[in-house]
Amino acid sequence: LQLSLAIIKPHTVKNPVALTYIRNVLKNKFVVIKTKRLFLDKSTAANFYIEHKDKFFFNRLVTFMSSGYIDLHVLGHKNAIHLWRKMLGPTKVYKAQFEDPYSLRGMFGLSDTRNVAHGSDSLTSAEREIKFFFPEFSFY
Ligand code: ATP
Repeated sequence: LQLSLAIIKPHTVKNPVALTYIRNVLKNKFVVIKTKRLFLDKSTAANFYIEHKDKFFFNRLVTFMSSGYIDLHVLGHKNAIHLWRKMLGPTKVYKAQFEDPYSLRGMFGLSDTRNVAHGSDSLTSAEREIKFFFPEFSFY
C-alpha cells in the first residue's frame, strides 16, 4: 500500500462545505490511516517547507500555514501519491479553474497560496512528511 500525506490548509478547514466534501472524497477513495488537527507555529511551518526557503512566496506561505488549524491525513491507496495530487489539480488556481475545474483546487482554491490542500509529490517526500508530523508512525 502506498502512502501519501494530505494537508488540508487553514482556509479550507474554515470552509465547512469544502471540508465536508473533501472528507467524503478521502473516505471513499483512500484508506485514511491517521488523522490529526494541528495549529502550526511559524518555525514548524518554515521547517516543513524548507525546500522553498529561497522562493519569493516563502514568507507568505509560512504565515498562511500558521494562520489557523490544518488537518493532516495519512492516506493509503495503491497509487496514493498520484491519485491525491490528481484530485487536487494544478498548483496554480487560475490553471486549475481553466484546465480542471472539478478538481479540489478548481472548485475551492482562492489563490496560489490558498490552494486548498497539499499532497506529497514522491515516495521520498511522503516518507519525510509523514515522519515530520507523525514521528511515531511505523512504515513496516
Ligand atoms: P504542495 O506541495 O503544497 O502540494 P505543489 O507541489 O503543487 O503544492 P509547490 O511548488 O511544491 O506546489 O509549492 C508549495 C506550495 O507553495 C503550494 O501549495 C502553494 O501553497 C505555494 N505556492 C507555490 N507557488 C506559489 C506562487 N507562485 N505564489 C504563491 N504561493 C505559491
